[in-house]
Amino acid sequence: METTCATRPGDTFNEDFVTAGGHFAVVLDGATPEPGEDNGCVHSVRWLVQRLGSRLTAGLIEHEDAPLPELLRTAIAAAMEAHGGQCDLGNPRSPSATVAVLRAHDGRVDHLVLGDSAVVVQTGDQTVEAVVDERIHGFPERSWAELRHLRNRAGGFWVAGNSPEAAAHALTGSRPAKEIRRACALTDGAYRLVERYDWSWYELLDGLERDGPEAVLTLTRAAESATPAGTFPGKHHDDATVALCLIGGEDGPHPASAAGPG
Ligand SMILES: [Zn+2]
Repeated sequence: METTCATRPGDTFNEDFVTAGGHFAVVLDGATPEPGEDNGCVHSVRWLVQRLGSRLTAGLIEHEDAPLPELLRTAIAAAMEAHGGQCDLGNPRSPSATVAVLRAHDGRVDHLVLGDSAVVVQTGDQTVEAVVDERIHGFPERSWAELRHLRNRAGGFWVAGNSPEAAAHALTGSRPAKEIRRACALTDGAYRLVERYDWSWYELLDGLERDGPEAVLTLTRAAESATPAGTFPGKHHDDATVALCLIGGEDGPHPASAAGPG
């Protein structure tokens, strides 16, 4: 697996996280805190994202055979421990993050998605599957006050933060590595070209391989900057992070394709 990563802050400092090794890539995206409300925690969102990310990375390295949800569960529990007992982790506004993982293991490629970070996989026949956890966007009309009580609850949505149980609700899958040509793990800020600007997932993967993750993030920023503020809900620029993994099906990583279906 050949992995190339890029990460870029949005309007302020970066609350995304990315790591990659020879057999895995991890991205996390810290959730925007509820404005003006005490979240029971003395730590920043970035602090939590870094603890979750570093502990998940350590698990992927040290326990190559462990199922991804088990590694995420352990990482969430370890990050909860790291708060040091001085924070109220029962607070429904407690800081949280979304997670996407790709792992090559034992001739297979496994993925895990929790929250609106995503994994996109292209098989050798140019079929593209995007794994996006839509549950987190299932309540667009709800207020912050209502949303906080839907978090990490059955019938609501699940994120990494103050509940190890959330790991069991992640979207997971596994395919033979020989069927997969390329894949990426990315935060929602890095798939705005698809979500807002009419790119297909195939075009996004192709751009990532052909021009590189940095170039795709530059195109994302350019599209945002050309869009009048207020056109879309949410932040004008979001933290954006992507890890492109070339897997290559039967023959190892392929050279960039010149053209393909869009
Ligand atoms: Zn804390």
